[in-house]
Amino acid sequence: MAQSTAAPTPTPTTQTLTPLPLRSIAPWAVFFGVLMLVLLYFVGAEQGATALVSGEGVHEWVHDARHLLGFPCH
Ligand SMILES: [Zn+2]
Repeated sequence: MAQSTAAPTPTPTTQTLTPLPLRSIAPWAVFFGVLMLVLLYFVGAEQGATALVSGEGVHEWVHDARHLLGFPCH
């Protein structure tokens, strides 16, 4: 009769993941949503009459993203 000399391996414990409550996620979701809207503004509308920053600096920095997203440019 063979006997195993190895120590019994512990069974892996299942970690229960508790979902994050919506109340803790909501402020971050709003923050990043506003941040994305500001970024979208600078990519899509920061030019000419709607420009917040004078000059072509911002436009040149986001020029490729503007074309990538299909905003009219020139
Ligand atoms: Zn362009």
